This record gives sequence, C-alpha cells and structure tokens, in this order.
Amino acid sequence: MAKELRTVAERSPDATLRRIGRSAGRNDPIWELRVGSGETNVHLVTQLHGDEPAGTEAILRVVRELVRNPEANRDILRGLTLTVVPRANPDGAMFVSDDDGDGNRERVTRRENVQPWRRRDSRHEPDYHTGEGPPGYDLNRDFDPTANSPGAAEPSGAAASTRPRARGSTEWTQYEEDGETLWRHDRTYRGYTLSGCGLELTPEVAAVADSYRRARPDVAITHHHKSVGTRGRGSETPSLLSVMAAFGPSFLRQAPSYGSEESPESVVNPFIDAETSRRSLRLNAFVARQLASSGEFGPVTRYGYEPLWGSYLDSLSPKTNAAGMLYEVAGQSDERDSIDYARKVAVSRAAFRRTLEAVASDPDLATMNANAYFDLPLESGGPTTR
Ligand SMILES: [Zn+2]
Repeated sequence: MAKELRTVAERSPDATLRRIGRSAGRNDPIWELRVGSGETNVHLVTQLHGDEPAGTEAILRVVRELVRNPEANRDILRGLTLTVVPRANPDGAMFVSDDDGDGNRERVTRRENVQPWRRRDSRHEPDYHTGEGPPGYDLNRDFDPTANSPGAAEPSGAAASTRPRARGSTEWTQYEEDGETLWRHDRTYRGYTLSGCGLELTPEVAAVADSYRRARPDVAITHHHKSVGTRGRGSETPSLLSVMAAFGPSFLRQAPSYGSEESPESVVNPFIDAETSRRSLRLNAFVARQLASSGEFGPVTRYGYEPLWGSYLDSLSPKTNAAGMLYEVAGQSDERDSIDYARKVAVSRAAFRRTLEAVASDPDLATMNANAYFDLPLESGGPTTR
C-alpha cells in the first residue's frame, strides 16, 4: 500500500503523502494522502476495523484514477481538497495467527489493533478493549468527543501535552455480559451523558483525530463492512450497500430509536446543528438514490443511526460542522455467504466516486430535500453496530 501511495503522490503535483503515526502493536506506518486543491475539504478514513479492507482498496482506486487522468477529473480536483487515511488499523489488517492449528501463522486479519491495556492507561479496562487472542482496542470506540476542537487553546508550560484534553466528568459503569464483568466509560459533557465514550488511548485514533483537525473537513466519510443481508428473514431489506447520515435534534422525531424512554443524546447527536444535519442527510440520500437508480448494485438501504460516542463520525464531525457519511458494504471477510470481494470493492468505489462528484458540483446539495433520506429503506429492525 505504501508503494501504491508513493506512486500516486509522485504522479500528481498537488498530492502530498505524510506518515501521521504508527500502529500500537506492529509499529506499522499510518499514512495520510491529500489530493486536490479545492475549497471544500473532505476527510475520509477506511479500515478502522482491520478485517474490513474493501474501502481501502476502493479509495486507492479512486485516487489513482484522479491523478492519472486529471483532465477528466478536474471538477473533483479543483473543487475539493481530499484527505484520505487509508487502512487506519494496520495491526488488525496484518494480524497473523495459527487459527487452523497447522503450526503456521497465516494472515487472518481482525477487527481490533494489538495493544495491551495497562493499569496507568485508565481507571478500569474499558469494554472496547477486546478481541480473540491477545486483546486490543476497537478503534471505532476509542474516539473522544470531548477532546479539543480545532483551534482551541492548548495548555501551555510544563503541563503542555500534545494530546487533546478531555473535558467533562468521567464515570465508569459496571455491567454483566455473557457472564463477564465489563466497564463502560461514560462522560458528562455540556449537560449530556455520553454513554460509551472513547478515551483516545490508541496511537491510531490519535493520528486520525489529528489528521481530521488539520484537514478541517466540510464532509467526513468513513467506510465499514456490515453483516450479510438477511435475505428472507422478516421484512428486512438485504442490500449490498447501506449509507448512514449523522444528525442532530432537529431531526429527533425521524431518528430510528425516537419514542423510546431514552434520553435525546442516545437517539441523536446534540452537537450536530440543524444545517449540518441537513447537509449530511441530503448527501447520503443523494448518493444512495444515484447508486440505486443505476441498477448496478441493487437497492441501497440506510443504516439505523444512533450516536456511538467512541466513533469517528459522532466524535469528530460536530467539531467542524462536517456532513457525516458512513458506508457499510455487505459481508465481514470471514462470514459465510459473504459476497464476492471484488463486488464489495466495486460498489465502494462507485459510492466514493459519486460522493466526491456530488460534493464537488454542489457542496451543500441545496436542491435535495433532507427528508428524502428517511424514505430510504431501513437496513434492519433498528440501530446497528458499526
Ligand atoms: Zn467496521
């Protein structure tokens, strides 16, 4: 991948490649590639979960196309500054293990990074430190929504730290799951209780968050793999691709978990303002409709949204009022009936391209009605993990 990124960077006069960090376990580089010179900033991260590689491959294809053929892609390259962090979790992507017991360690990949929890890291071992084999962190649970916003004053003097300061007060909640006692990290912040808040304990998440702060994006995009569509089970709509917008209280009543006894901050993200919510909903709806009407990939569903405080989207997008967008392509790598890998890459590539074209031609998608998003079929019975 590094070779590939260097080739892209060498080909284009306005592409820059930086190493923004190293992974916790393997000490592998984490890369950031920037292409384009436009006014609208787009930040895109793939493979926070190591066993979800299709987005990385797809975005590499897209940036290769952009720099190989700058004339044909002039609208994107002149309209956008695209910052990509491909494969944010090399530990998980390159994870080796002797799963079949034949005495050889093979590359099997996994969701988490490879990082031990140490007593000095946090008061309790957080519940998102998990995984088969040596435990590691689920990186899409480690983001901290209370960390400093871009441009916020940094502490000075001897107490200065390069790590953004967390705000609010911390609480730990103990609970039982499958006979195990687990600790969830919650935070009270600006009057809200953020349940399952990340601690930014991993170097990977620190690097992605820092890349985000420097990019100051207007649009924030992340890519994951979901469980295979459950064909024939109830009325659920199986789909190759789902999209998900992040939104705030102005669309509270349309949120999938609205009406439960839950507090508003467990149903929508109270830090996402009305205008940003609208842009997020419009963008997701627009791209989903375009892809669905192309007929190439079947129906495109929406993934049930509720805030996930340790995630990239919920923790970072409010900081720059970025329209948030999540893609979920069907099938974990190790799942039975998982669709052909080439098709996962193909649909992801098409989705990325359509998104970049849409944002380049009209960053606010002003012609689109935000409520169209809620007309997309909902992926399954309720909010879904990501
Ligand atoms: Zn994922």
